Amino acid sequence: MVLDIHAHILPHAFLDLAHKGELPGVTLTPRLQGGEALAFHGLPHPFTPVFFDMDMQLAEMDAHGIDIQAISVAPRLFCYDVPADRATQLCRCWNDEILQRCKAYPSRFLPVCGLPMQDPAAAVEELLRLHRENVKMLQIGTTVNGLCLDEERFYPVYEAASACGMALLLHPLIGNADPQTKRYHLSNVAGNPYQTMAAAGNLIGCGILDRLPSLQFLLVHGGGALPYQIYRMDHAYAVRPRHTFRCQRQPSSYLRTNFWFDALVFDRAPLSLLRSVVGDDRICFGTDAPYDMTDYGQLERCESEALRRKIAYENGSILMGL
Ligand SMILES: [Zn+2]
Repeated sequence: MVLDIHAHILPHAFLDLAHKGELPGVTLTPRLQGGEALAFHGLPHPFTPVFFDMDMQLAEMDAHGIDIQAISVAPRLFCYDVPADRATQLCRCWNDEILQRCKAYPSRFLPVCGLPMQDPAAAVEELLRLHRENVKMLQIGTTVNGLCLDEERFYPVYEAASACGMALLLHPLIGNADPQTKRYHLSNVAGNPYQTMAAAGNLIGCGILDRLPSLQFLLVHGGGALPYQIYRMDHAYAVRPRHTFRCQRQPSSYLRTNFWFDALVFDRAPLSLLRSVVGDDRICFGTDAPYDMTDYGQLERCESEALRRKIAYENGSILMGL
C-alpha cells in the first residue's frame, strides 16, 4: 500500500472564478499553441489538465503505484492577501471541493484543507467545521501575508488543531522579492527550503510546542533546509542569551516529537541525513504531484523492506489517523 501525503489540485470553482475575472491578480490567457496560461500576479503557474481533472490524476496515481493521495490546493490559492471575509468564503469553497472529491473516491483521496489564517477566529471556525467532516490535516503557509507563524494571534488556531488532533502541513509560498533567487529556478530550489526552515524555526523558538506538546506539523520537501541546519539552531540555543528563545528544550529535540517529513529529497544522501536526524518513524512518501518538481523515486531509495513499508504507508497512516 502506498500513501502519498503531499499532492495538490486546482479546484474547478477556482477555474470558474478565474474565468469570470473574479480573482484579483489571477490571469488566464489563451496560448498560441492552444490551451491557456495561468499566472498569479504575473508569476506563471503550471496549468496542465491533471491539476483539475480527477480522472487524469487517478490515472497518474495508478501509473506510479500510488493507492491513496492526500490532496490540498496549490499553495497560490491560500488567499492570504485578500480581505478576510472573501478569503474565508474562498477557503470554504476550495475545501468543499476537496471534501467532495474525497467523498467520491474515499479509498483514493484524503482531504488536506486550508484556513483563512489572516483571520484567526474565522480560521478556527473553519477548522472546527472540517473537524466535524473528519479532516485530519490542514495546510497553512510558512508565512501569512508577511506575518511569521510565531505571532500570538495564530495561537488559537494551534490550540484548536491540537485539541482536535489535526496536523498542520506547512507549505512554502515563494515570491520573487529576493534578487538572489530570480534566476535558475532558485526561488523554488533555494527559496522553498529556506521558507520551511524559517517557519519551523519560528514555531520551535516561540515555545508553542511546549504549551501544546501534541501539536504536529508536516514539513514538505524533506523539511527543506531544517534537518541539515537544525544543529546550528541548537548551537545558537547554547551560546546566545537564553531569553531570546522561548522554547524549553534544545531545538533539534522537537523534530522527533512535533514534526513529520516527506521524503522528497531526490537522492539517497539527503534521505540518509533525514533518517539520522529525525528517525525512521517520521518520514512519509510525498510527491508534490502534479508539479514538475515531483520525486517519484522515494521508495526505491529505501534500503530495506521494513523502511519502505514505513515510508510508503505506515508512518503516513498514523499521521492521517487511518
Ligand atoms: Zn507542495
